[in-house]
Amino acid sequence: RAKAGGKSCYSVFNSNMHAEAMSRLQIEAELNRGIEQNNFVLVYQPQIDLQNKALLGVEALVRFYHPKYGLMSPLKFIPILEDTGIIIKIGEWILQTALKQLKKWQDEGLSIKHVAVNLSATQFRNKHLLESVKEALTMSGVAAEYLELELTESLLLEDTESAVRTLKQFKDMGIRVTIDDFGTGYSSLSYLRRFPVDSLKIDKSFIKGVVSEPEDIAITVATIDMAHALGLNVIAEGVENEEQRDFLRDHGCDCAQGYFYSPPINHEDFSKWATTYRETLNPTGTINTP
Ligand code: C2E
Ligand code: MG
Ligand code: MG
Ligand code: MG
Repeated sequence: RAKAGGKSCYSVFNSNMHAEAMSRLQIEAELNRGIEQNNFVLVYQPQIDLQNKALLGVEALVRFYHPKYGLMSPLKFIPILEDTGIIIKIGEWILQTALKQLKKWQDEGLSIKHVAVNLSATQFRNKHLLESVKEALTMSGVAAEYLELELTESLLLEDTESAVRTLKQFKDMGIRVTIDDFGTGYSSLSYLRRFPVDSLKIDKSFIKGVVSEPEDIAITVATIDMAHALGLNVIAEGVENEEQRDFLRDHGCDCAQGYFYSPPINHEDFSKWATTYRETLNPTGTINTP
């Protein structure tokens, strides 16, 4: 009996593995065809200046519609794109699409100071990165100062020598760099001195407890103060309510992003959102809501 049970367990496990491997291969194939089939799309989330409430920038976030499985989270498909190297091609598409969209908004008269684009490890290590960034800027007609790149701490610590070189090249071009998910990586504070970055984005896991959890409050306040002492800007992600917004503003955080203002939305909805948001600003530049 034990033997039979063991055997059937084995075969179930085996066929599950098979199904998983098949779906992974199918997903890879669909991801590969994704650009041509228009299954990748960018969504945009506003970033708000906490002191004057103005729309400051926008972060572009990628989405993938799998023909069979529907909407997939980037947390699920970015690792596959990374493993297969497809991220290089998709990454170029993301950069070009985000910059072209910013150009359209600027032409429409929306005042947006930057579009933030996420870079993953494989993209950052790619020796053609600088070239493809330059190409995307040229193609879109957007000046380098309007581009912000978001990188994570762990990515920068993989090979600090070459990371510093790449960051210096971005800086020389006038591109801004933000450390994303700040506080969740190794958080070696000494690297902040070495890396020429412009801002820190406090991870949403700290913002979640920023009005109730003493540790989250301590980390958030310390990050804001340290960033400012080093001459860096600070942005908070995952701001979901007024209490968090007020806390961050009162503690000198420069900028906020989160569901409190808007979830990431498609470009048409973003245009509408930005127009409505601007209308809530009164002539003196303060607003009533939100
Ligand atoms: P991230 O860059 O740290 O993006 C923040 C994530 O938080 C996004 O998830 C966003 O939708 C979500 N978020 C925004 N506001 C709130 C809020 O108020 N509360 C909560 N709980 N969540 C909020 P998303 O879009 O699923 O992206 C997940 C991660 O996938 C990103 O983290 C980024 O690391 C990666 N990613 C997304 N788009 C791209 C891309 O175009 N290229 C690359 N290389 N990575 C990307
Ligand atoms: Mg990001
Ligand atoms: Mg983040
Ligand atoms: Mg994140």
